Amino acid sequence: MVSPIDGSVLTTLEGASAADVDRAVASARAAFEEGRWSRLAPAGRKKVLHAIADRIEAEALDLAVLGIRDNGTEFNMAYKAEPGSAAGTFRYYAEALDKVAGEIAPTAPDVLGLVHRMPVGVVGAIVPWNFPLMIGAWKLAPALAMGNSVVLKPAETASLTLLRLAEICSECGLPDGVLNVVTGTGAETGSALAHAMDVDVLTFTGSGATGRRLLEASAASNLKRVYLELGGKSPNIVFADAPDLKQAAQVSAKGIFRNSGQVCVAGSRLLVERSVHDDFVALLQAEAEALKVGDPLDLTSHVGAVNSEDQLARNLSFMATAAAEGGEVVTGGRRILAETGGTYMAPTIVTGVTPEATLFQKEVFGPVLAVTPFDTEEEAMRLANATDFGLAAAVWTGSLSRAHRMVAGIRAGVVHVNTYGGADNTVPLGGVKQSGNGHDKSLHALDKYVDLKTAWIQL
Ligand code: ADP
Repeated sequence: MVSPIDGSVLTTLEGASAADVDRAVASARAAFEEGRWSRLAPAGRKKVLHAIADRIEAEALDLAVLGIRDNGTEFNMAYKAEPGSAAGTFRYYAEALDKVAGEIAPTAPDVLGLVHRMPVGVVGAIVPWNFPLMIGAWKLAPALAMGNSVVLKPAETASLTLLRLAEICSECGLPDGVLNVVTGTGAETGSALAHAMDVDVLTFTGSGATGRRLLEASAASNLKRVYLELGGKSPNIVFADAPDLKQAAQVSAKGIFRNSGQVCVAGSRLLVERSVHDDFVALLQAEAEALKVGDPLDLTSHVGAVNSEDQLARNLSFMATAAAEGGEVVTGGRRILAETGGTYMAPTIVTGVTPEATLFQKEVFGPVLAVTPFDTEEEAMRLANATDFGLAAAVWTGSLSRAHRMVAGIRAGVVHVNTYGGADNTVPLGGVKQSGNGHDKSLHALDKYVDLKTAWIQL
């Protein structure tokens, strides 16, 4: 594991082979069949999940620092978004798990139709490096809450916090075999998990290319259900009637630049009404240039490191393409602080991005904002929907009617109004179009980890 802060080697991890993955899946299945977790009364599962939440809270600082050294997210975001959010997620599903019930169907009086919600069995979870603990918890907590066993594969560049979380789960009373962690590359370890014949459900957050491979793996193996969260190219739409353009610029800058833009819901396309285009870009430029990029463990840093050299090289290659396609770099566009040995990129704004341009269509997953002007609400709507993605969006307007029209018309899993990026466990997060299927968070996430079973009883 190489730290993006300064390029130092943190530790070395084993890569799980296909045979190792098979053993992990067999262990998960054996634990599920044995029933110490899968048939534990809900109150017992609740107690363990609460204990895990308590322990994450107690260790929040250590977990945050471990994760930051591994993946480079600035402290001010990582502390809240990683241990803070993961603890909240375990607590939410601890509280939820004994409040979801089966059904009695409205059958004829001589029959009793019961609909049971059964755990699916073995869940495979493959997670990315940008928020490993938060996203890991989004998959783990609801899957465990419903009584399943899990085989979890962290990203190869950010595994350490999830390994510690597995220890915490064990120390808090999760029976052996219920949670298994396999470290290694996507091509070997991840692919073996995706092809495993005894995994019932695969839940994933990551790139579209990998998502496609997972669907192929399901088709080539046992037709396991596959839930995908695949990122986006989310429009942040600023109308001239926005209540407060300065505040919109402040929040919009956070919406694209925090965690160096390595956020699936990042507002990476700014669509701005032409009459305020120049003023708004100037406000945003001031915000971007005021951000202190640097050591993510320095509490005064607003933005930390890009996760890896590969990711930084990829971000910079988008800059070359943007220039060739007529975009103008207003600020940023380059590597900075190379002398630290770390991987840092300046917050970047590119104007004049046309709907055909690569920067309009492709997810960078870096601190790069593409700016495109529009003239009418209809054009804004058309541009908002003119990519293959549909994860998140935002609309800044003082008109309630316009806000509702935009919320209804934008094809995305979440549309923010007069803010960017707020949410908690009570609401689902998931995409439409090529941003994926299924939802993390909220009571809806529980549905991914249950099968419905009917009992039809002749009276
Ligand atoms: P990102 O661009 O966020 O790195 P990836 O889709 O490459 O997105 O990675 C997300 C997760 O998917 C990581 O845990 C990675 O190891 C895993 N992964 C990558 N390729 C494959 C694959 N072919 N099969 C299964 N998992 C994979």
